[in-house]
Amino acid sequence: MEAKIDATVSDLLPASALAASDDGLRSLLQLTEISVSEILKLLCERNSALPIGQPGEVENQVLDTLPGGVLPDQGLGIASWPELLRGFVSGSVNLAAENVAANLHAPVLAIAAAADFVASITNQSVDAWESGPSGIVLERALITALGGLLGYSANGGTLTSGSTQANLLALLHARQRVYRSRGIRDVFSSGISHDCARPRILASKLAHVSIKRAAGALGLGQDSVISVPVDRRNRMIPEAVADILSALNDDEYPVAVVGTAGTTDFGSVDPLNQLAEIAEAHSVWFHVDAAYGGMSIFSERGRECVKGIERADSVSMDLHKLGWQPAPAAAMLLRDPDAAESLDCNVVCVNPRDDEEAGYRGLFSETLQTTRRADVLKIVASLRTLGRDGMRRLVDSCLDLADYAAARIAEHSQLCLENEPQLSVVVFHYVPSVDCVEQERNAINVAIRRRLMRDFGSSVGRVEVVDPSGSSREFLKFTFVNPDLSRRSVDELIGLVVQAGEIEEKNFR
Ligand SMILES: *Cc1c(COP(=O)(O)O)cnc(C)c1O
Repeated sequence: MEAKIDATVSDLLPASALAASDDGLRSLLQLTEISVSEILKLLCERNSALPIGQPGEVENQVLDTLPGGVLPDQGLGIASWPELLRGFVSGSVNLAAENVAANLHAPVLAIAAAADFVASITNQSVDAWESGPSGIVLERALITALGGLLGYSANGGTLTSGSTQANLLALLHARQRVYRSRGIRDVFSSGISHDCARPRILASKLAHVSIKRAAGALGLGQDSVISVPVDRRNRMIPEAVADILSALNDDEYPVAVVGTAGTTDFGSVDPLNQLAEIAEAHSVWFHVDAAYGGMSIFSERGRECVKGIERADSVSMDLHKLGWQPAPAAAMLLRDPDAAESLDCNVVCVNPRDDEEAGYRGLFSETLQTTRRADVLKIVASLRTLGRDGMRRLVDSCLDLADYAAARIAEHSQLCLENEPQLSVVVFHYVPSVDCVEQERNAINVAIRRRLMRDFGSSVGRVEVVDPSGSSREFLKFTFVNPDLSRRSVDELIGLVVQAGEIEEKNFR
């Protein structure tokens, strides 16, 4: 069967056929069929999320499918594709499997994958008008629709490669505004080197690491980020934000207050309305990192959780998490459509000013990227296919799974629930049967996760909580982003964790 596929493929198309050509398109149909059937056979029909085995074994399996290596002198022809396909797919994680609930890395909608294929074949780029007119038109419409979804009446913004980039752009715009208020008209041009005052960004101690890294990249320094303590439900304490802002010295100035709508560790949502109020009172930019929680707004519970998000100056949200899009699919939205003007840039080779004035306008000035995929296509295809109603059902399904898992964990004698889920994250730990010191309990829980990967091809997440004294506690985490998961598979997942816990516990004695 495999030999036959390989033989068929070799007749299929010349090695250098272009995708959007007669030859290319005709053979793409067959090539797609072959690829899809291999994914079905090697990924979907495998009943583990991850390939089972040690990392070294998986590595060998993947490399064994590459006779001739990744860069042969003589081309191997299209016949080389099925082997690589098989190696790649066999060594992949199946995000739609029953025994994966690790991270915010989600399985994708079929319609999104189909649309993304079209974006690849046509290879549109939204930076310049002539590189992708329809993609540009759709992206503008989508940005407005996403802004409307959050409650903005008018807005700017852009699609991005992820919330990491969205956070960077948002803080870049915040930096521009705060420097302007300090008398530096355009810090994007002049730089900040001559300014000795100390910038401050206030974010939850559970904020995503990309906030710090963005501060570093923007020349504000990673140390400019002040970690604000959280309450027992892992939400940033607004009074602490107000206190810190009020106590800043004369040489310190706030650049932004960052609220997180859906922390990566706990799915907790900071009190956005209160934070908006405080930021307004101190005239500070309010950014909301809604990478995870932004799309939960389709559901009633999510909407309640993220109340106040419409008061943010900027919002990051991922559609490759809740949203079920192939990465990259994310957005940075701006309440003030003019807030991104520091990135305005005209260069003759991309977007000559006179072309723009004549209506030939691309999206080059919205981001720091030049070439940029039409990621918009898959997103619009999905939103139109499912509608608000369909999106709500998918979100609700994930939230319900988390509630179900939390209830089962809470009543389980060998597990201890750490958080009541606000979104779809459930944090817990395995309780060893005999009293043991914290260190041992930590080590057993860490080992559980690795055993699940190695022996069961199952993947669950990990959370470390460091208390002020510096001692740390290790937890396991389920993140539910697969709306098709059944309650039975949640039970089985819990069963696997307990089984792995019992094995690890024995190893420790
Ligand atoms: C995932 C995540 C990010 C990073 O987003 P990418 O899309 O991976 O770049 C930022 N913030 C939060 C809260 C996240 O969950």
